[in-house]
Amino acid sequence: MEYDYFKLGLKVGLEVHQQLDTGKLFCSCPCILREDAPNIIFERNLRPTASELNSIDEAALNEFKKRKKFIYQGYADSTCLVEADCEPPHEINKLALKTVFEVALMVNAKIFSELIPMRKIVIDGSNTSGFQRTTLIAQNGEIIVNGKKIRVEAIVLEEDASRIIEKHPEKIIYRLDRLGIPLIEFTTAPDINSPEEAKLVAKEIGSIMRRTGKAKRGLGSIRQDLNVSIENGARVELKGVQDLELIDEMVKREIQRQIALLELRKEMIEKKLIKTDFDSEIIELSSLFNESECKFLKEKTVFGIKLKKLKGLIGKEVQPKRRFGTELASVVKAKTGLKGLLHSDELPAYGVTEKEVKEVNSLLECTHEDAFIMVSGEKETILTALNAVIERVKLTLDKGVVSETRNALEDANSEYLRSISSSARMYPETDLLPINVEEKQLNELKKNLPLTEKQRMELYLSEFKLSEKLANQMKLSNHARFFEKKVSEGFNATMIASLLLDGLIGLKRKGAETDNISDKMLEELFEAEKNNLISKDVMLDFLLEWSKNPLLPLNELISKQGLNSMDSIEAEKIIKKIVEEKKDLIKQNGMRSVSALMGEAMKQLKGKIDGKKINELLKKEINEVMKQ
Ligand SMILES: [Zn+2]
Repeated sequence: MEYDYFKLGLKVGLEVHQQLDTGKLFCSCPCILREDAPNIIFERNLRPTASELNSIDEAALNEFKKRKKFIYQGYADSTCLVEADCEPPHEINKLALKTVFEVALMVNAKIFSELIPMRKIVIDGSNTSGFQRTTLIAQNGEIIVNGKKIRVEAIVLEEDASRIIEKHPEKIIYRLDRLGIPLIEFTTAPDINSPEEAKLVAKEIGSIMRRTGKAKRGLGSIRQDLNVSIENGARVELKGVQDLELIDEMVKREIQRQIALLELRKEMIEKKLIKTDFDSEIIELSSLFNESECKFLKEKTVFGIKLKKLKGLIGKEVQPKRRFGTELASVVKAKTGLKGLLHSDELPAYGVTEKEVKEVNSLLECTHEDAFIMVSGEKETILTALNAVIERVKLTLDKGVVSETRNALEDANSEYLRSISSSARMYPETDLLPINVEEKQLNELKKNLPLTEKQRMELYLSEFKLSEKLANQMKLSNHARFFEKKVSEGFNATMIASLLLDGLIGLKRKGAETDNISDKMLEELFEAEKNNLISKDVMLDFLLEWSKNPLLPLNELISKQGLNSMDSIEAEKIIKKIVEEKKDLIKQNGMRSVSALMGEAMKQLKGKIDGKKINELLKKEINEVMKQ
């Protein structure tokens, strides 16, 4: 469906979370997510103090009251005592700080002269300490997208949380590899007025982050939250959109949902419904389903409620394949952990017969205009669930759209997650000193800000003489600044670009973890080549191995790989043999046969000895043959 967004009063704001590849924020561990078996496992129970609990929203508090056990997995060589909260945080990561300064300067935001790390209470166990460290860096910036100014409200540097590996009713298993990865939180004002504009702004923010060369790549490394509202609707936060291409569709679906709910409210008002109409009695229905074919009701505790005059409206579609009943079910799911509910607009179905529906109608005293909802499970949970349904229906009558936080689903729909938490209570982080920002550092950074994509294209095409294809790819590469640096040091632009683009793509096909390859690793590798520790032809082979073990120091990798280890006497023997076999060719072509024999020599010696050395040896041997 097409909407007139201006008439609807559509307002969208974006909150982008970008992980940085700079090492962790408060320790020296690497920013690497691992799939191999963890070798550290420990268990924690969190015990926030009463004053802390006051600032926590209801859903989180409910989870906490259920006393979940939290199990943490770590790695001896890539997580440390800081992630385990057994050691205070180290000084803030300078490179992460520099990167967030660059981002702030790129959007002309005002950086505070003193930065104060704060603690934000988190009780879902995703932070071993029970809080997330967060530092407000800058405010009041702007980005220009298609000639329109979008205000940047805040730029924050914070630490990412642990990631969930398994979630059970009684315990959650977290992995510490993600905990402490620096995150830039970039928030725009609600200046966006169309779904397409939302996507463009998200792309521009992504580009700003990537141009620093320090943005982590790969699934989950950038997460977008959308704030969407229309006139007479409400501000709704859609959390965790991972696919940039879905952003416009997500906004459209939220508009659709808000319009549908406003229509629903209008119909409820036309039916002259008032809130107290929904104070229905919660009635036990278990006995009706003792012999039922429906497996979620048979021999279970079942309760139900009548929803006055809502017949037909519970089944109203609010998003493709989502009905008002699905909305109620997702509230129940979030507040009680129950899988869902059954409503009269979808019955008979799921094994519930026409006859059973009639019996429920009669027990609940429903007229032909009334709807009903049934829930099965433990009695106490069911009562919570049905009360949540009643509350939600009343809110829909009252407001139409409820201001809340919703989970972005993969199909671009969304489901209820929790009420919007009033800005979480924060306390100063007493383990860290305030950070003074030096004007001098900012001025230095300003002089060397990453080029824009457009500036990169101009430079790469006209000065570096890259092909259009290479330039286009290079401008978006995380290694663009490394590339520019190498070219300024005198390296051939096309050679370096091919290595960083096609070379790395080739490595990825061979199984390399190319997201792990940092500029620092590349710099070390170039340095090693310059010092003749490895040869140019094996640089990519090295990267392949190194990307899988990025924690290994390069010198250890060199000795482990045994590359370049063959001594020249051994190599000389092999080359002598090659030359011997092609004696006739050499006599005919003289020194021109060097290039012909180089291929064969490389085939046998590649990776074992430096290419330059092979060439030297080959020339020497050919000379010998020619003298004969
Ligand atoms: Zn650590």
